[in-house]
Amino acid sequence: MKRIAIIGGGISGLAAAYELEVKRAAGLPVEYVLYESSSRLGGVMVTDHMDDCLVEAGPDSFLTEKPWASDLCRRVGLGDQLIGSNDPQRKTYILVNGRLIVMPDGLMFMVPTKILPTVLSPLFSVRTKLRMAAEWFHPPHQAQGDETVASMVERHYGSEMVERLADPLLSGVYGGEADQLSVRAVLARFADMEAKHGSLGRAMLASRRKMAKARKGPAPPLFTSLKNGMQQMVDAVVAKLNPACVRTAASVDAVLRENDGWHVVTDAGSQRFDSVIVATPAPSAANLLRGTSNDLAALLRTIHYSSSVTVTLGYDKAVRDSLPPGFGFLIPRSEGKRMLAATFVHNKFPHRAPEDRALIRCFLGGARDEQILDLDENQILQIVRSELRQIIGLSAEPRFARVYKWRAAMAQYSVGHLERLERIERLRQQLPGLAFAGNGFRGIGVPDCVKSGRDAADDQLRALGLLKDEPIPALAPHR
Ligand SMILES: Cc1cc2nc3c(=O)[nH]c(=O)nc-3n(C[C@H](O)[C@H](O)[C@H](O)COP(=O)(O)OP(=O)(O)OC[C@H]3O[C@@H](n4cnc5c(N)ncnc54)[C@H](O)[C@@H]3O)c2cc1C
Repeated sequence: MKRIAIIGGGISGLAAAYELEVKRAAGLPVEYVLYESSSRLGGVMVTDHMDDCLVEAGPDSFLTEKPWASDLCRRVGLGDQLIGSNDPQRKTYILVNGRLIVMPDGLMFMVPTKILPTVLSPLFSVRTKLRMAAEWFHPPHQAQGDETVASMVERHYGSEMVERLADPLLSGVYGGEADQLSVRAVLARFADMEAKHGSLGRAMLASRRKMAKARKGPAPPLFTSLKNGMQQMVDAVVAKLNPACVRTAASVDAVLRENDGWHVVTDAGSQRFDSVIVATPAPSAANLLRGTSNDLAALLRTIHYSSSVTVTLGYDKAVRDSLPPGFGFLIPRSEGKRMLAATFVHNKFPHRAPEDRALIRCFLGGARDEQILDLDENQILQIVRSELRQIIGLSAEPRFARVYKWRAAMAQYSVGHLERLERIERLRQQLPGLAFAGNGFRGIGVPDCVKSGRDAADDQLRALGLLKDEPIPALAPHR
């Protein structure tokens, strides 16, 4: 019997554990232990229920085009619980000089694909519009090495596009900054498009047409979530695991390589395993491994993380009626606010609030404002309420408010991230039986994290000679 340890019970570690459970149930001679330092599983995926509203503390959904999270949901019996975002109401505003301006139709991430709405939009100056037109004729360009997202976007569309769109979008998704994040790690598709087509606009339009042609039926919703919130996914995965294999409130102090195996050290002592999947944020992984490889630990420490704060406020119908339609707004750095973005949850996922309520979720923190974590909840609430008053004229008393702080939860893939990963991979390969999963490596979104856990489990089974490439039957949907 081979033994595999998984350290970290966020969605990455849970996906790895589920994969091992499936294979164990199918008869593979493997057992696993999942160690989670906190008393609950799921990491940053937490759903609360308040005042008949569903409140997401961490992620609220995931990108539909990345299939791994939906696949996992289906495999654990949640296929009929998957829901899409309310895309007919999808409209996002950008705060410009204190006014909300709607993002023009046809903008894909920050690439314009429809001429008329972009030309008519007050979001961009004439100068930027001229740059957009010229971008259409950009020749193919093979970048030498990595660069920041800001530098690539600026090269194509100018600095206003960075300030008004790229930076706020990346703050919203990564809690990061366009002038720090690696284009190759964060927007690999853009780098490929530039190399092949030159113009991002032409490339995006071509890919959109190709997808529309291949698709039967209407476009799927941009975001997918679960009827009862993201926690539902955590609960369903946990329900499939063998409880005897799951240790909560079990913080791992070290993983040490010894005699062809690994020792996992906790307060309760040390246990031997054949393989270890480290599914914690990279700085924790560095601490765990410092007794095994100082070089590896040092490299892991160079993957930085930013912190986030989410604040959800519930309001009465009068507020709902007064809010603009759409999914919410983004706030560029130049507007001088501490809020980064806000989602009108009642529009994005309507069933998450009764029809006579408004539910607004605000984001703060990120790489630029780690200090927000030092404030107490009341101080954070005051900031949010004051900025909502300035931006959308909202001064009503909320029915409830919840503040969630996530310290060092969002990995920042800075320039050179992929080269860093290659170096980590070379050192990892010198330590047989060690695997990494989690948001520090090849994708920060929930689907990428699920994939990282699943792949780490399969790789370790293969390395142990337990897995050939034939498919393993799924677990019965409802055990
Ligand atoms: C506020 C917020 C909003 C987000 N929104 C979205 C979104 O809408 N869509 C999307 O796709 N993604 C979103 N993300 C990103 C995504 O949710 C995360 O990247 C993903 O959930 C991370 O999962 P993980 O398992 O890798 O890490 P985590 O959830 O951080 O879990 C790691 C676990 O490891 C445990 N651990 C650490 N050290 C040890 C140790 N020594 N011993 C034992 N256990 C340890 C921790 O306690 C933790 O439970 C969001 C993230 C945040 C913070």
